Amino acid sequence: DVAPFAPATFLRQQVEAHPEAPMLLAGDDQRTWAEFASRAAQVAQALRAEGVGPGDRVAFVDRNGLPHFETLFGCALLGAVHVAVNWRLAPGEVGAVLADAQARVVVADPGAGGVGGRLLPDQLAATGARRLVLLGPLPEGSAPDVPVVGYEAWLADRPAEDPGHQPALAEPAIQLYTSGTTGQPKGVVLSQANLATAMATARRVFGIRADTVSLVAMPLFHIGGIGWALAAMSQGGTSVVLRDVDPGVVLDLVERHRVTETFVVPAVLMALLAHPRIQDADLSSLRTVFYGASPIAEDVLVRCLDRFGCGFAQLYGMTETTGAITMLAPEDHDPSGPRRHLLRSAGRPLPGVELRVVDPADGRLLPPGQVGEVQTRSPFTMLGYFRKPEETAATIDPEGWLRTGDAGSLDEEGYLFLHDRIKDMIVSGGENVYPAEVENVLLGHPQVADAAVIGVPDDRWGETVKAVVVPAPGAPPADELAPALLAYCRERLAHYKCPTSVDLVPSLPRNPTGKVLKRVLREPYWQGHERRIR
Ligand code: ATP
Ligand code: MG
Repeated sequence: DVAPFAPATFLRQQVEAHPEAPMLLAGDDQRTWAEFASRAAQVAQALRAEGVGPGDRVAFVDRNGLPHFETLFGCALLGAVHVAVNWRLAPGEVGAVLADAQARVVVADPGAGGVGGRLLPDQLAATGARRLVLLGPLPEGSAPDVPVVGYEAWLADRPAEDPGHQPALAEPAIQLYTSGTTGQPKGVVLSQANLATAMATARRVFGIRADTVSLVAMPLFHIGGIGWALAAMSQGGTSVVLRDVDPGVVLDLVERHRVTETFVVPAVLMALLAHPRIQDADLSSLRTVFYGASPIAEDVLVRCLDRFGCGFAQLYGMTETTGAITMLAPEDHDPSGPRRHLLRSAGRPLPGVELRVVDPADGRLLPPGQVGEVQTRSPFTMLGYFRKPEETAATIDPEGWLRTGDAGSLDEEGYLFLHDRIKDMIVSGGENVYPAEVENVLLGHPQVADAAVIGVPDDRWGETVKAVVVPAPGAPPADELAPALLAYCRERLAHYKCPTSVDLVPSLPRNPTGKVLKRVLREPYWQGHERRIR
C-alpha cells in the first residue's frame, strides 16, 4: 500500500510522530518537523487567499533551499501542483517554461538566473500569473504588470492551519521539466501515486529509514534532487540540503552531519575524486552512495569504490519515470570478482517495473544481448507531458509502455546495459557506434580529464566519429596528444568505432545535472547538413 507516502499524508504523519525531531537543514536554516509543517500550512493559506485550489499550478524559481520545500508542501496540503523551474536556464528559456506551466502564482528570485536579474518581469506577462512572490529583489527599473509581494510579507500573519486536502492517488502532485538534453525541456506531470510508489521503493529497496541522514546534492528542480529529498522525508529521516553543488562542501557536510545516504551524478563523483580533501575526509558514516542520471566511466566507479569504502548503487531512470526504474545493487559492485562486467550495467528493474528492448525501426521485440530502444511499464510512469497530448501519445503506447529514448540491451539475467541515447548514436558506414564505449576508452587514458564522442558529417561514411577531449593538467600540446589518443583508441577499439579526429577543449558543455550536451557539441559541424534522427 503506497497511499501513506503521498507528500501531504506523510508530512502529517511525521509531524504527529516526532514534532521536535530535526527534519531539514539548509545552509544556516534548520527546521524541526513541527516548525516546517507550520510554515507549509502558512504557504497553503497564502496560496488559497490567491484563489489557488486543487490542480492549479504554482511555479517556483530559485536555488535549493527551504522555500522550495515550503512551497512544495504548501501546494500538497492544498492539492495544488508544484512546478519547479530550472533557474539556471537563460531568461527567455525560463519565460518559455513559465508560459508553458500557466502558473497562477510564481514564487521566484529574479536574481537566481545565471545571467542575473534579467529573469523577470518581461517573461511574466506571458504567463498569466496573478501574483509574483519575490525571494529576492526585482531588477532595477522593472515594473511587473502583476501584483508583487515579498515572500516573508506574503506569509506574515497567515494562520498555520492545514487546509486538509486529502490527496487522491490519481491526481497530479508535481510538475518537473526534463533536462533538455536532447531538445526543449518538456513538462512532466507526476501523480501522487508516482511519488508515493517511489517513496515506498526508497524504503523497501534503497534502505532509507527514520535514522537516515540524507544529503541532497542535486538541484531540486530535477527528479534526482526532489525525488531523492522526498525519499528521506517520507521515512522521517533528516535531510541536509546543498544550495549549490560544490565538492568541498559535500565533504564537509558528510563529516559534520554524519550523512548516511546520498545521491550524486557521476560528474560530482569525478569532482570529489579530484578534490584535495578526498584523501583525509572522514566518510565512515556513509552506508550507500547512490549515483546515476548520466553514464559513469568504469574507471571512475572503481576509484570511488576504492576510496569511499561504502556501498555504491547505480540508479537509472528519467523524469518521466519519477526517477529510478533500475538499480545496480551494492553487491553487484565487485571489481575483483568474476562479475566485474556488471560495473558497466545499470542494474535490474526495481519491483513493479517491466523492461523490454525493441527494435526502434520496426517495433520488434529483441532477444537478450541485442541493442535497441529500452521501453518500460510501471507504476512510476508519469501521467503525461503537460499540455502535449501528441508528445505523450508518441512516448507512451496504449498498453502503457514508455519509450525511454535510450539504447540498451538486457542480458539473460535481466541486467540492463545502456548504450547512449538513440539520438546520440553514430551510424558510420552502416555500423552503429555507441559514444559511451569510445568515451570509456578515452577516459582510461592518463592525459584525458574528460571526453565526449559525437558523430560529425562525412561524405563517404555518412557520419564519422569525433572525440572532443579535455586534456588533463600537464598533458602535452595538441599536435602530440591528438595523434597519441587516436593510436590509443586503435589499439582498443574496432576500426569503425575509432575517432577519426580529436578536438581539444577547456571544458565540455553540460546541463545542471552534469549531462554533456551533445547537440551543442554537434551543432557547428552539422550546419548545412541534415542529421537523420533515429
Ligand atoms: P530531455 O528528455 O529533455 O532530452 P533528459 O532525458 O536528459 O532531457 P532527464 O529526465 O533528466 O532528462 O534524464 C533522463 C535520462 O538520463 C535517461 O533517459 C538517460 O539517458 C539518462 N540516465 C539516467 N540515469 C542514467 C544512468 N544510470 N546511466 C546512464 N544514463 C542515465
Ligand atoms: Mg529524456
